[in-house]
Amino acid sequence: MRLAGERGGEGANLSMCSRPRGLYKARVSDLLELAKIARELAAAFRQSPRRHGDRKRRRGHSVWSRGVHGHRPHYAARGRRLRIRGLLETLGGRRRQERRGDAEPRRGGDARWPWNDRSFRKAFAIQAPSQVPLKQGRSLMDWIRLTKSGKDLTGLKGRLIEVTEEELKKHNKKDDCWICIRGFVYNVSPYMEYHPGGEDELMRAAGSDGTELFDQVHRWVNYESMLKECLVGRMAIKPAVLKDYREEEKKVLNGMLPKSQVTDTLAKEGPSYPSYDWFQTNSLVTIAIYTKQKDINLDSIIVDHQDDSFRAETIIKDCLYLIHIGLSHEVQEDFSVRVVESVGKIEIVLKKKENTSWDFLGHPLENHNSLIPRKDTGTEIVKPYTPVSGSLLSEFKEPVLPNNKYIYFLIKIYHTGLFTPELDRLQIGDFVSVSSPEGNFKISKFQELEDLFLLAAGTGFTPMVKILNYALTDIPSLRKVKLMFFNKTEDDIIWRSQLEKLAFKDKRLDVEFVLSAPISEWNGKQGHISPALLSEFLKRNLDKSKVLVCICGPVPFTEQGVRLLQDLNFSKNEIHSFTA
Ligand code: NAP
Repeated sequence: MRLAGERGGEGANLSMCSRPRGLYKARVSDLLELAKIARELAAAFRQSPRRHGDRKRRRGHSVWSRGVHGHRPHYAARGRRLRIRGLLETLGGRRRQERRGDAEPRRGGDARWPWNDRSFRKAFAIQAPSQVPLKQGRSLMDWIRLTKSGKDLTGLKGRLIEVTEEELKKHNKKDDCWICIRGFVYNVSPYMEYHPGGEDELMRAAGSDGTELFDQVHRWVNYESMLKECLVGRMAIKPAVLKDYREEEKKVLNGMLPKSQVTDTLAKEGPSYPSYDWFQTNSLVTIAIYTKQKDINLDSIIVDHQDDSFRAETIIKDCLYLIHIGLSHEVQEDFSVRVVESVGKIEIVLKKKENTSWDFLGHPLENHNSLIPRKDTGTEIVKPYTPVSGSLLSEFKEPVLPNNKYIYFLIKIYHTGLFTPELDRLQIGDFVSVSSPEGNFKISKFQELEDLFLLAAGTGFTPMVKILNYALTDIPSLRKVKLMFFNKTEDDIIWRSQLEKLAFKDKRLDVEFVLSAPISEWNGKQGHISPALLSEFLKRNLDKSKVLVCICGPVPFTEQGVRLLQDLNFSKNEIHSFTA
């Protein structure tokens, strides 16, 4: 399992990916919770009795606490990259940010464009992309099919070229549109019709460097994978001004400085092998990795240490450079990672447990100091999931680390889907990547709340789990909680007995099950969400009681529900719809 840190963003997002990308900055509290999330993910997905709880794993952030990772057998790549970003609608008091992005989500199943989900976009977008209806045959799957068809999408017959700024500027028309993202130039003309944000949005970056725009709108998208068949080449590099980094090394007390860390790494690219070095102060040990590659960033490094075993993976082009050492002395759990991007140097600073001088760093472990090719793992897919509690009957607790070691998901496997069958095939020892949690649900909505109504359909029940836990535990003003839970059949009702027990235990809770395809013996409510069902169900406790209605389910269900709620005179502030 791998946690993907998130850089530059606001809240904490939960996601999984097999490759570190799209990182945002997260708060310490968020990051701490992530360790828990990752550990729990391991339990949830692997259902393994093996515990990984003590293992720390970080990428590129001084407080980035990496959760779990099992033993990765020889970097075996899975057939498809998985990246799940969850809307962690937990109520742990984390900062939540209201983001813009009001376009309605599109309908669709697992294979839809994930950014069509409003809250999914919201989670990432500083500025939400406008949504345009895509033509028939222009879905994500269609795009993937096209990219795998062998069609020459760049017009260069597979040749990669070096693109000058002048050249880039020339390609600024819809039928000839090149865009540079992080130094790589893509011909996005073939992609225009597949772009959920529409052609106009892409054209905003036509013939120019679209990195900033891209980062504003959907930095989480794995464009490298999505657009890899559109790659034209790299931007021609302007000569860099050399800077003297030797100043930085004055603190070195011990160890060999690399021969050429300054000049080599700035200007040169190419086959030069990465190297590492270490040095120490009284209290710190710094391991420096010289990637010999410009523009390396925090996303490129994953550090993992447990007891005396230290491991750092650095992604260098198509390879992983691995430092794997049995440390000679104990270090504290806490460590930090720093990158000097312009020279491709990574510094991992470990804190000594005892302030003694180390004679040597440690002994090499498997694959230490080796450059390992990364296998092509196909297309990356991103899906958001809402973590739930371990049980409905447990009281809500503020996330506390490091003792909380599990995260729970309720994931329905759609056998014809693109993503969940891959999850279903995960084996113990496989890896998924997790980014930081995200959500736009504000805990302040509960303040002084008297009536809470929850409308859930199918797995749309998941956000309600923590809401129920929290509301019944922590909101003294609450008089009534009513859940209306829509499912096809009785068998589909998630956690039915727990819900019934909870309702029995806490008289403030009423639960109503509504089935759309019940057996004839069913004597409960039947049908779909409707004005009749809602008007009867959504009775306020008192005329003016403060009320909140949360709704989650299939997108059309949620959309219809919100319309009905508005018809029933619930204000915007009184409705929260989960739409990812
Ligand atoms: P499902 O079993 O297909 O449907 C659950 C119930 O909703 C069924 O009774 C179904 O009726 C009804 N329903 C479906 N479409 C409807 C519509 N257009 N109008 C009225 N009722 C409708 O649900 P599921 O497969 O578990 O899917 C749950 C959905 O919730 C997924 O799309 C998932 O992405 C979403 N979700 C969102 C979040 C979030 O935003 N945080 C979290 C979890 C889940 P029929 O029997 O007639 O189909």
